[in-house]
Amino acid sequence: MKDVEKKSEGPVEDGRRWEANTFENEKGRWNVYPGLCKGCGLCIEKCPVRVIEWSKELGFMGTPLVRPIIEGCIVCGICQTVCPDAAIHIEHKGRGVPPAAVPVH
Ligand code: SF4
Ligand code: SF4
Repeated sequence: MKDVEKKSEGPVEDGRRWEANTFENEKGRWNVYPGLCKGCGLCIEKCPVRVIEWSKELGFMGTPLVRPIIEGCIVCGICQTVCPDAAIHIEHKGRGVPPAAVPVH
């Protein structure tokens, strides 16, 4: 299957875009919300297969957004779990929410 990237084109409110940038592979869908990502880099640090990188696109704070190298993403959900701003949403094809994305509290 061809990998897909859908860029956020939604309305801007207070300098924030609320529609997700979406990437897709055969395992699932990876979404980042430009209106929430503060560019802290925690998701880059914690991805077990090191497939998150900085994007050229800027988030609402003027810091770089993140993007996955989607071909290598195993859709584990860890980036969603560790993001302090709930800026990443992972959808696992066929098995619903990935185990690591289930809140622990
Ligand atoms: S879902 Fe897992 S493999 Fe994919 S980018 Fe997030 S942490 Fe990395
Ligand atoms: S952990 Fe969240 S806020 Fe930090 S860079 Fe990743 S997506 Fe952005």
